[in-house]
Amino acid sequence: MRDVHRVIEERGDYTFVVHNHYTGDAEEVRVDPNRIALFEDRSSIEGLPNACPFLRFDGETGKAWCTVHLTRPDLCREYCCRLLILDSQGKLAGRVTYQTALIPDTDELGQLWERVQPTLDGLCGMEWDDAFITILTAAGYRVRR
Ligand code: SF4
Repeated sequence: MRDVHRVIEERGDYTFVVHNHYTGDAEEVRVDPNRIALFEDRSSIEGLPNACPFLRFDGETGKAWCTVHLTRPDLCREYCCRLLILDSQGKLAGRVTYQTALIPDTDELGQLWERVQPTLDGLCGMEWDDAFITILTAAGYRVRR
């Protein structure tokens, strides 16, 4: 993604202007207040010269973080996801892109979603994730966070 997102201006206070190589758009992003320390530590992407300049990995868990998640570019809002849902063959079945927004890539997952959505009402955060992942796993899907 480093070839797609190039930082063309640093505005200070962890604010940057990012140029999208494909669309030609320039968008302002800002490091999330709770990700500044992680952003400052570039060690986790030292061996990844093509990584997006805002990607970091948590040293303890290995989890990947977008350090500008709250203001990330539009391209990322459309295509990046929190949960990746794979069918039993390992093929993409759908994505959870934002909080509890599911984008199904198969009719089967769309139908399952329609059936189970009411049972998830009232849940949020990790509770929602855990409940939905349990449902998906029981139905034969695999989920990557
Ligand atoms: S979601 Fe964040 S880390 Fe991923 S490509 Fe977009 S800006 Fe970079």
